Amino acid sequence: MITDLLNPWIRDLVPYSSARSEFSGNAEILLDANESWDGGNDGINRYPDPFARELRKKMETVLGIPYAMSAIGNGSDEVIDMLIRMFCAPGKDSVMVERPTYGTYSVFAATSNVSVIDVPLKGDLTLDEELMVDTIKEKKPKIVFICSPNNPTGRVYPLSVIERIAEENEGITAVDEAYCDFAEGFQSASSLIERNPRVVVLRTFSKAFGKAGARLGILISSPEIQKVFMKAKPPYNVSRPAEMEGLKALADYDSAMARCRETILRRKAFSSFLETLPYVSEVFPSEANFVLIKVSDAAALYSYLLARGIVVRNRSSDPLLANTIRITIGSEKEMETLKEALLGWK
Ligand SMILES: *Cc1c(COP(=O)(O)O)cnc(C)c1O
Repeated sequence: MITDLLNPWIRDLVPYSSARSEFSGNAEILLDANESWDGGNDGINRYPDPFARELRKKMETVLGIPYAMSAIGNGSDEVIDMLIRMFCAPGKDSVMVERPTYGTYSVFAATSNVSVIDVPLKGDLTLDEELMVDTIKEKKPKIVFICSPNNPTGRVYPLSVIERIAEENEGITAVDEAYCDFAEGFQSASSLIERNPRVVVLRTFSKAFGKAGARLGILISSPEIQKVFMKAKPPYNVSRPAEMEGLKALADYDSAMARCRETILRRKAFSSFLETLPYVSEVFPSEANFVLIKVSDAAALYSYLLARGIVVRNRSSDPLLANTIRITIGSEKEMETLKEALLGWK
């Protein structure tokens, strides 16, 4: 039962009942929320919808995410934070992550005083399925975060592997699919939720949809978890301008997908280019909008590019990623400038 996994204070929480959630309809005069009576013509004087219903309805039609299974966070970051607050008891529970992966899982765990168990990837940067299953059985983490395609490696993990881990895990398995639109033939873990409601999926408007500045993260989960998220989150976590940006992105879904296809083509061409550079010893296969490479001297290459006004990410701090650089796929012009700079390095 999901309710047995929840922190008891979350399970028993009486949600804040906002003016906007107590009334919905078409009244002419709204004197219930102490808003300003003057907001110009754009309605920004009013509080936003606590449940982002308009955006979630549109997500159902455009993205096929059932309305009762979706919730919106202030970026995926808030969704990650909320999941930890919902399921993990501070000072007692743990979460598990693969390493290396996206850093925020560990940061939000730390801010809740929840410990992090990290399981190293194999040398080829794929998931160590057996080690993960053994560690889950031994340490019983409350949440296992799996990022696929993984940041910073760009790897997609087979759905069958994720399914097995989620089955062995008695806690929540949170699959972060922030980069799924850049992966060809991607199979989403959201198809697992019906059989295993302990699976939740994270998506975002920040990458393929080009709305990082709006802060819109998506939680896809069983309706049961969705309801708990709705009552535990800050009441007005998604601003109206942000919701509007999400609606715009979905109205323009075809061009977002066209931009993804263009990014994929550019990633492939750029990867082939990187293979020809003498100081690049490895171009890791990526299914995201970035490429991870191993070079002779990552710190030196980073500084060299920076001096030319180009910022990339040095990921060398992880023992598995010595001398690696992560490069986002930019516009055609940006990539041409970058390629010229790369050709000019020793
Ligand atoms: C960029 C990214 C996100 C997006 O986070 P937002 O808070 O929605 O901007 C989520 N997960 C991973 C792994 C990312 O790299």
